[in-house]
Amino acid sequence: MANETGLIVQQSLDALLQDTEFLPHLKGLDREQAFRSLGAILSTPNHVHKSYLRIVMDSGNVERVPAFRIQHNDTLGPYKGGIRFHESVNEDEVTNLATLMTLKNALHEVPFGGAKGGIIINPRDYSVRELYMICKKYVQYFSDVLGPDKDIPAPDMGSGEREMDWMMSEFKNIHPGEPYRGSFTGKSVVSGGSLGRREATGKGVYFTLRHLLHDFMKNQSRWFSDKKTQDNPFLKTAMAHTDRPLKLAVQGFGNVGSVAALEAYQCKVLQNKIVAVSDRNHTLYNEDGLDIPALVDYTAEHGGDLPLSTEQLDAAGIKATLKDREAVLTLDVDVLILAALEDQIHASNAGEVRARIIVEGANAPVTGDADRILGDRGVIIIPDILANAGGVIVSYFEWLQGRETQFYTEEEVFKLLMGKMEQTMESLLPAFFGGRHSLRSHCYNHAVLKLSAALYRQGKLY
Ligand code: NAD
Repeated sequence: MANETGLIVQQSLDALLQDTEFLPHLKGLDREQAFRSLGAILSTPNHVHKSYLRIVMDSGNVERVPAFRIQHNDTLGPYKGGIRFHESVNEDEVTNLATLMTLKNALHEVPFGGAKGGIIINPRDYSVRELYMICKKYVQYFSDVLGPDKDIPAPDMGSGEREMDWMMSEFKNIHPGEPYRGSFTGKSVVSGGSLGRREATGKGVYFTLRHLLHDFMKNQSRWFSDKKTQDNPFLKTAMAHTDRPLKLAVQGFGNVGSVAALEAYQCKVLQNKIVAVSDRNHTLYNEDGLDIPALVDYTAEHGGDLPLSTEQLDAAGIKATLKDREAVLTLDVDVLILAALEDQIHASNAGEVRARIIVEGANAPVTGDADRILGDRGVIIIPDILANAGGVIVSYFEWLQGRETQFYTEEEVFKLLMGKMEQTMESLLPAFFGGRHSLRSHCYNHAVLKLSAALYRQGKLY
């Protein structure tokens, strides 16, 4: 995965090198040298911090918990990115996720750089007291490199408001008298978090689909008769899914997947039927459409898991059949929202994917090989750095609100969020439908262009 992000960044740089309108006065060997510098800067993180947190377990034993903070790039602002609590976290994965954060912020013009953290644990194996100690120790070990104007963590898989509240409180203890509200985002509202932050990523994920198929397409009828774009395979796919009932499947029913599914269920402008959702255990399927609000309530009351058996489904009054965990990926649907883990669609299963539109709620859920296979078939992939940026955008609003100690209403937050995502979509879609490249390469090109221009202006390309 790490190399794939680097590869697409390099492709964007190669395209930019040939673009004579980009830094036109930079020519010949100087231009080549500047682009070599860009490649070197964007392909490596600025800092890799690693520690073994010393935790006294409830048993009295001491455990050393491996933890990372990887700061990829801060050209556009302080480092920003979540902390993942997962047993399979490793340095390559965290570096890749930090790189994606740099690109995501550049793409959406959020004034932050990119970073990511990781703690190698399965949080389900630890008591609340042990998790509290892990959070405190993380801040203690990395306190010199974190802060509202240095590096601002947020939740990621396995962490949430509770962990951010604990971490911010420890940051405040270590740095008395200094500003602390902006040191962590994704906090609870009572601790200075933003209204709407919890739903932001899932809402943004669904917004990108709605905007593509409805808001954008309804105003673009001129293209349908334009000979030059008529044969564009992606435009054909979008047109074939406009103004007609859609069947959706959602992989992952956590923070991102459940909110995206609920948005789709409640949407009045697209005619959606969510026929499948899945989690770490299995897939739930109903050809006539699942009762998403009932499933949201169920997971809230059952530790986040979907019903595990037909007995549990019956007891909850939910009509669905159980399928295996991976079934969700290859069902006969129009749209597949991926909101679980990375590398879910790969070269071996891409051929079986029947959805014509894929939305990446998770980071990097489609491998590079699968991306090419699906792209060749005209499948539209709304990529992670475009689709799942709602969380970091509202984190930015939370950071601003913490600075100003002025708080926005939920309505204001969602209006600002959708406005920002719409602006990004509108800057990409005309070129996407007018050209031959994937939406992912358009997103990377935009992000790399912004970073390159800033690095050049800041005198970093020598
Ligand atoms: P979460 O922990 O709340 O939910 C994860 C979901 O995926 C759960 O339903 C879990 O059961 C399911 N899952 C786990 N392993 C699975 C497997 N092998 N197959 C199918 N389902 C599986 O996490 P989240 O916050 O919803 O994040 C999901 C993804 O979105 C992650 O990749 C994360 O990095 C990304 N993301 C999250 C945010 C955010 O604000 N939460 C922002 C950007 C990106």
